[in-house]
Amino acid sequence: MRLDKLLELEKIGSRRRVKALIRSKQVTVDGQIILDESQNVDAKLQDIYVGNKKIKRSAHVYYMLNKPQGVVTAVKDAHHQTVIDLLDVKDQRAGIYPIGRLDRDTEGLLLLTDNGQLGYQLLLPHKKVTKRYEVVVNERLTEADCEAFADGIIFSDGKKCKPAELTILSSETQKSRAYLDITEGKFHQVKKMFLSVGKKVIHLKRLSMGPIQLDPSLSLGEYRSLNQEELKTLL
Ligand code: URA
Repeated sequence: MRLDKLLELEKIGSRRRVKALIRSKQVTVDGQIILDESQNVDAKLQDIYVGNKKIKRSAHVYYMLNKPQGVVTAVKDAHHQTVIDLLDVKDQRAGIYPIGRLDRDTEGLLLLTDNGQLGYQLLLPHKKVTKRYEVVVNERLTEADCEAFADGIIFSDGKKCKPAELTILSSETQKSRAYLDITEGKFHQVKKMFLSVGKKVIHLKRLSMGPIQLDPSLSLGEYRSLNQEELKTLL
C-alpha cells in the first residue's frame, strides 16, 4: 500500500498532513527516512515510524458477504435478521459494519469492515465507485432503455441520475435480464431507475463494487475475508 494511504488509514492525519510529515523527514521505513509519499510499504513486514510512533500492522478486518434476501443491511434491527447476525460469533463484535446498503430483498456483494475510514471513502460520491448489478425485470428491455440510462434517468421528483450503462442479456415480453453499472448510491436507485422507464425489478443482485467482485464460490449467507490482492485494490 502507498505510504501516504497507510498513514491516512491509520489515522495519523489527513492526506495533506501526512504528506507534510513525510516531507519534513519524520517518517522512516526500516530505519530509512522516506521522502516519497507514493512508495509502497507493508506494515506487516516493515518497521514504519512517524517520529517515535510505530505504525502497527493493521488489525482491521475486511469481509465480503453474499447477502441473501430477507436480511436487513443494518447492525441491529428489532424485527429482522441483520447482516451482522450472519457473521460468526467472534465477528459479531462492536465496530464491524456494512459499507453501503442493499435492500432487504436484494442479494449479493456486501463489504463489511471495522475500518471506518475505508467505508467512508468508498461511499464518497466523487470517488465514483462503479457498482454492477444483475437485474431481472418484468418487461421487455430495449435499446431505447439503454439510451435513457446512458443519458441519465430523471426521477419523478426531478432528481437526475448520472449516466449508467445498461447491458441487456436477454429480453422477453414478461422477463428480461441485464447488467446495470452505476456510480452512485441513491436510495432504491436501481429499482427507481427501472420504474422510470416503466419496468419493475423482480430480482436484484449486486455483483461488484469497484474492483471487488462477488466470489462465485460463496453461497448465499456465506462470507470470507478479502484476500491480499483484493485489499491492495481498495486501500
Ligand atoms: N438499488 C436498489 O434499488 N436496491 C438496492 O438494494 C441496491 C441498489
